[in-house]
Amino acid sequence: MQVYKFGGASVKSADAVRNALNIISLCDDNLVLIVSAMGKTTNALEELLGKYYSGKEFKNAFKTVFEYHFEIINLLFDPKSSVFETVNLIFNKLKEKLESPVSENYDKEYDEIVSVGEILSTTIVSYYLNENNITNKLLDAREIVETDSNFRAAKVDFEKTAINLKTTVNFNEYKVYIIQGFIASDENNSPTTLGREGSDYTAAIVANILSASELTLWKDVDGIYNADPKLIDNVIKLNEISFREATELAYFGAKVIHSKTAKPLMNKGIKLTVRSFLNYDSAGTTVGDFEAKISPLVPIFIFKNNQVLLTISAKEFEFIDERIFERIFSILNKFKIKINLMQNSALNLSICFDYNPNDFNKFLSAVGEEFNYKYNQDLTLITIRHYTEETIQKLTKGKQIKLEQKSRINAFYLVEN
Ligand code: ADP
Ligand code: ASP
Ligand code: MG
Repeated sequence: MQVYKFGGASVKSADAVRNALNIISLCDDNLVLIVSAMGKTTNALEELLGKYYSGKEFKNAFKTVFEYHFEIINLLFDPKSSVFETVNLIFNKLKEKLESPVSENYDKEYDEIVSVGEILSTTIVSYYLNENNITNKLLDAREIVETDSNFRAAKVDFEKTAINLKTTVNFNEYKVYIIQGFIASDENNSPTTLGREGSDYTAAIVANILSASELTLWKDVDGIYNADPKLIDNVIKLNEISFREATELAYFGAKVIHSKTAKPLMNKGIKLTVRSFLNYDSAGTTVGDFEAKISPLVPIFIFKNNQVLLTISAKEFEFIDERIFERIFSILNKFKIKINLMQNSALNLSICFDYNPNDFNKFLSAVGEEFNYKYNQDLTLITIRHYTEETIQKLTKGKQIKLEQKSRINAFYLVEN
């Protein structure tokens, strides 16, 4: 069997869904389809949640999501199709939720509201395939993928998930199953999510559990390049890349795959390909157990925007020692902040991390209770893997560098925009 993952862009419009049907109909193997929320729905739901949570008027934000999905289904279905009723029910449930008082736990509210994006997309795709000769069974990831209660970054319980999935999927009954990426639930059946862009990871988990022969991620790019083709001209496509190298790229911010995708596949030697849903004859990039890290071997450039550089020092004249590290790390952990780059001197610790508007000020106050700090915002972290002096010159020329670091393979530059 094979696993296909359709990202947001691949189902962003009625035409995109029709195109996905073409791709699926070319596969004669048993299939599990992992589908993300349509287009930028997750962002739109985050906006809706923000308004709901802060007590602001959210009608327009709700309308945006509602009209977007209805525009797609109006184009895809006969007006008599029961998809309209089903989609309406999903929106009614969301409305009910938004009419109830907010709870203290923002992250829990996030997962309940934002997970609706994947429920909508999979419902629509499942109906559309069923009505176009691809009989399929729609599953609810909240009943299959079990996690802890670390809302917004939930950890998957592999064993429980494996039992649930294996007892549900039976290719003698259906050749095609559809399941949401990114969403899951905890032991109290509260919806959870695996972190933004988490659908790639869901796809890898499903591929592992069902021992897929291959996982294909259908994206709006022809594969993995040596830089984001939307940001840089003359990029070079990688034909092959090792699991380890792909994980490093993802970790440093190459959005093309989620950093957790490789591990479940590596464990079972499952091949991963990144292919274009627009140009589906092209072979794309294969990620696998290759000796060579990348082929062709070229420097790789990764840009991570919206970075904060925070420099922390003790309130008294004190060394930054392990005890202080421990305190700072515990605050970072509390706010679920992941460090992208770190450097220390005798009296200062500088850390670079993604800016999160929701709790940045709260985080700073928590730091300020125990330490002195200074910070810069709106920076870009440039990572050059397999760097050369020439590539460093080219990428940092004319830029104000706030922090830099080099290892044998990586060069990092945190720069002002
Ligand atoms: P999905 O729809 O599956 O979630 P994403 O939008 O997350 O897909 O990933 C595809 C995007 O990743 C591309 O549109 C591209 O702009 C971006 N990207 C970033 N780095 C790279 C890279 N090195 N190679 C290819 N694409 C990249
Ligand atoms: N829809 C989620 C997001 O946009 C998950 C995913 O697309 O992978 O982050
Ligand atoms: Mg993605």
